[in-house]
Amino acid sequence: IDFTKASFKDFENIAGQDIYATAAEFNAYLNFLKENGHLNYRIESLTPVGPEMNLMLPGDTSPTWSVCLVSNDYLGFSQHPEIKAAVIKGIELFGTGSGASPAIGGHFVYHRQLEKRIAAFYKRKDAILYTTGYTANSATLQCLLHKEDLAILDMAVHASVYEGVLNTNVKTFLHNNLEMLELVLKNAEHQYCTKMVVIDGVYSQDGDLAPLDKIAELTHRYGAYLVVDDAHGIGVVGDTGRGVVEMHDAFEEVDIITGTFSKALGNIGGYVIAGTELINYLKFQSRQHLFSTTATPAIMGIIRAIELIDEEPEWRTKLWENINYLKNGLVSLGFDVGTTASAVIPVKIGDIPKTLEAGRLLLKAGIYTNPIMYPAVSKKNARIRMNVMATHTKEHLDKVLQAFEDIDRTLNLTNRTPSPL
Ligand code: PMP
Repeated sequence: IDFTKASFKDFENIAGQDIYATAAEFNAYLNFLKENGHLNYRIESLTPVGPEMNLMLPGDTSPTWSVCLVSNDYLGFSQHPEIKAAVIKGIELFGTGSGASPAIGGHFVYHRQLEKRIAAFYKRKDAILYTTGYTANSATLQCLLHKEDLAILDMAVHASVYEGVLNTNVKTFLHNNLEMLELVLKNAEHQYCTKMVVIDGVYSQDGDLAPLDKIAELTHRYGAYLVVDDAHGIGVVGDTGRGVVEMHDAFEEVDIITGTFSKALGNIGGYVIAGTELINYLKFQSRQHLFSTTATPAIMGIIRAIELIDEEPEWRTKLWENINYLKNGLVSLGFDVGTTASAVIPVKIGDIPKTLEAGRLLLKAGIYTNPIMYPAVSKKNARIRMNVMATHTKEHLDKVLQAFEDIDRTLNLTNRTPSPL
């Protein structure tokens, strides 16, 4: 494997090679990245999530303060005093663990309260909790779709969705391409049993939104169900932070809403919202729910966080001021930020080596971002991805803009032909 052109995916499985030999080769690749200052995964922070964090940078022996654009804690709720107090109260009242899986003794009043609260937030009756957003998607789809069924996926959906459809038939359509979706639906008409279209509300790499109203109409016209994962939409998008579903007033049109408590809600866990009968089905049939210990009492913080989305809309207002400030600044410097309409801002670069180098130079300038490349995005579509937070100040964002202007002089990022893919 040529390390200069490689990606992590190349080491997933080297056909015919023992896994220990593959692991050794992968470690050689990690060392290669490290030596070039391009191993920016698992950078350790010594301080809490925030707009600035004290980081142990690769190769350094002492930490460095950096402006951080890598956190999905969009509203800063992981540090909110009232939410912290609710977490502490949960632990004081109920202890640190729940002791069992839900069916056999691990179901507590705070789990039921959170289920009801998150369902009501979306104007629906019932919800089921999972340990992560990842499991909410993968477990639900795995439970509902079988070999006679069909999953129809927007190509850009999250990895957890792909994992959920390993045991069913799958067709994909180009990202947000309605004509192609219709074609897939039409070709599948009178075939298969259950058909589910699965989309994200906000897409995690481009930060753009699904045309939910049009997709819902098409999906139902052809007799399929619609699943929307709005992990990055909750708390951020929509007048009252109810995500892309709110933007289209599609609370009833979406058959299944999934999401996570790990981003704007500042905690951890996943949820699925649907009709009561389907939720009951999942509660007793979904293996990852049934056989896995329930969330800790620290989730009492999530109940408070959901309330604060309504009680303190000023966090969302500040977040949007920041999003617009950074986005407009990058655009006026000539960078390509695509069609983002959320707190995820990509700076599109194209090739992988340049993106890795951009990440390294930004880090050197005290700006922590995520270089994103294949297989998270297609091969020619590597980018620097940033997540904006309500707690960033104008000074933080000015420093980011200055750093981008500086690295552009070395890497010539603004003068490029966008990839058609
Ligand atoms: N869906 C999307 C669109 C995501 O970006 C993520 C987070 N990476 C998830 C689901 C998984 O959520 P969690 O981190 O809670 O497992």
